[in-house]
Amino acid sequence: MDKTDKIKEEIPSCIEAEASAEDHIKFMKKALEYAALAEETLDVPVGAVVVCDGEIVSYGYNRREGSKNALCHAEIEAINRACEELGGWRLHKCDLYVTLEPCPMCAGAIINSRIKNVYFGASDNKAGAFGGLFDMNKEALNHHPNVVRGVCADECSKLLSDFFVELRKRKKIEKENKKSTEE
Ligand SMILES: [Zn+2]
Repeated sequence: MDKTDKIKEEIPSCIEAEASAEDHIKFMKKALEYAALAEETLDVPVGAVVVCDGEIVSYGYNRREGSKNALCHAEIEAINRACEELGGWRLHKCDLYVTLEPCPMCAGAIINSRIKNVYFGASDNKAGAFGGLFDMNKEALNHHPNVVRGVCADECSKLLSDFFVELRKRKKIEKENKKSTEE
C-alpha cells in the first residue's frame, strides 16, 4: 500500500469526494514549507495553510519566539490572514492543513471560525485537541470540523524531531561556551 492509499483509507468518504488525496499531500507539503520558516527564529517548526475552493488563501507558521507572543501559533496566524483575505470571520467553505495536531487554543479558533475540514500531519499526545490528548470534537460545541489525521505524518514528525535534536545540540554548545568563558 503506498502513502496515497493509506491516506485515502483514513479519509472518511464524505471528505474524499471533495478533493483527491493528491491534493491533500500537495497542500500539506506547502504547510511543511511554511513550517521550515519557523526555524529561522528557533521556533518549533509548525506550518499551516488555509484552502478555499482549491486555492491556498492564507498561510501561517509558528512565531511564538519570533514575535514573543504565546498566541502566534501557525493555525491562528493562518486563520487571521484568511479572515482578512476573505473579508469575514466565517470560514465555513475553508479547509485547514497543519503539520501538527492543533492545540486547544487553535482547535478553539478552528471551531470559532467554522473551518470545514482540518487535515493534520503529526499527532500530538501532549497537547493535541483532536484526539491526541483529548478530543474537542466530542464536546457539545456548536460546530464540529471534519478532522483527518496523518497526512504526510512521517515528514511532519521528522521535521519536528530533527528540530529538537538540533536545538539540544545548540543548547549544549552554548552551555559549554558559557562554561569556558567563565573559567
Ligand atoms: Zn496551537
